[in-house]
Amino acid sequence: MIVAQERGRDGFAGLDACVHCGFCLQACPTFLATGDEADSPRGRIELMRALERGDVAATDTALAFHLDRCLGCRACEPVCPSGVRYGQGLEAAREQLARARGVPWLARAALWALTTPGVSGVVYGLARLLRASGLPRLLAGWGRIRFAMGMLAATTSDRRLDGQTVSHSHRIRTVYPPNRLTVSLFRGCVMQGLFSHVHEATIRTLQVNGYDVREVAGQVCCGALHAHAGLLDEARALGRVNVAAFGDGDEEIVVNSAGCGAFMKEYGGQFAARVRDVTELLAAHGGPVPGGPLDLQVAYDPPCHLLHAQGVSQPPQRVFAAIPLLRLVTVAGAADCCGSAGLFTLVEPGMSRAVLQPKLEGLAAVAPQVVATGNPGCVMQLGAGLAARGTRAQIRHPVELLDASYQAAGRYE
Ligand code: SF4
Ligand code: SF4
Repeated sequence: MIVAQERGRDGFAGLDACVHCGFCLQACPTFLATGDEADSPRGRIELMRALERGDVAATDTALAFHLDRCLGCRACEPVCPSGVRYGQGLEAAREQLARARGVPWLARAALWALTTPGVSGVVYGLARLLRASGLPRLLAGWGRIRFAMGMLAATTSDRRLDGQTVSHSHRIRTVYPPNRLTVSLFRGCVMQGLFSHVHEATIRTLQVNGYDVREVAGQVCCGALHAHAGLLDEARALGRVNVAAFGDGDEEIVVNSAGCGAFMKEYGGQFAARVRDVTELLAAHGGPVPGGPLDLQVAYDPPCHLLHAQGVSQPPQRVFAAIPLLRLVTVAGAADCCGSAGLFTLVEPGMSRAVLQPKLEGLAAVAPQVVATGNPGCVMQLGAGLAARGTRAQIRHPVELLDASYQAAGRYE
């Protein structure tokens, strides 16, 4: 249970089942990018085992080089016939690396700016002002600064979809089913700072589907970004705050960021069992309620932390199926990682862009009007990549599409 105790050997124990079969190699985006065994799950497992045995020091540069280049996308887990829990091993190894060499200054600075209460409010406020100026959209391109501009531009709260505008009304004309359930909303840090429009769409669409959405005071960042950086103690501390804030009981906790949801499902115990992706709740009880037509060609890009880490594949499809006229197009490599991976896009830009390129080529080949994905990092990474490449497609969270569809159906006043 991550919030209550240190994993110790338990994290590395997740690697014990590996029998070196190599079935995972072709699922690994970094192995496909470099062809280097040490950039594959099997190669990294050998490195992590050597680290645990003490055969390789945590300060070893080759070890750090190959573990740093792992996206943590966990695409290697569902294809592994032995049930290796790669993500747990990686967390344990990164914790040792962070203790031995510290956390890179860029990752530290990003964590401080994006997740520290008080500080992050100012940072997000300035980011929203910059976003509203329109400059990020004009400056988007390749290169670190221009790519960051594209990432910010992709967080747009402009709700026009193919010429349609959705109102900001919260009044719901119809509800279904009549027996309403109450769920608690997890707001997070990046989602709250740059994607509050997705929270609004989440609340509206859940209300249409018969849920009352409760706000929870005292909640904080989920800790996923800290854990990915090897700062497990800080991640556990944040987890404990969230467990206290959401309290006991069995009320479900709705999360609309796949990365946060995946990590909160690993908090352990009763809390983890309550965490639901928004699409899981919408698709429950025979839902979602059908909306009005959206004549759009949409490419769905399933976030790794929804598909691989949470095993949630059908609920997003049910959301799209509730939108008449919406056409889902098949994209080659849709289930592959986009290269975002939390802070990975900032601290490993070379590998991140190498992993992104085939994804952009697959999207360009089908030329969708909208790319839909349910994780803020993926929205920003794909949005920046599409803008840099000059591919004309909007990027949206799936609940934004359902929200627009409910607007079209007249479900909001
Ligand atoms: S992680 Fe699983 S699939 Fe990959 S080499 Fe080990 S046992 Fe085989
Ligand atoms: S987590 Fe992703 S990048 Fe890392 S070894 Fe597994 S498949 Fe490869």
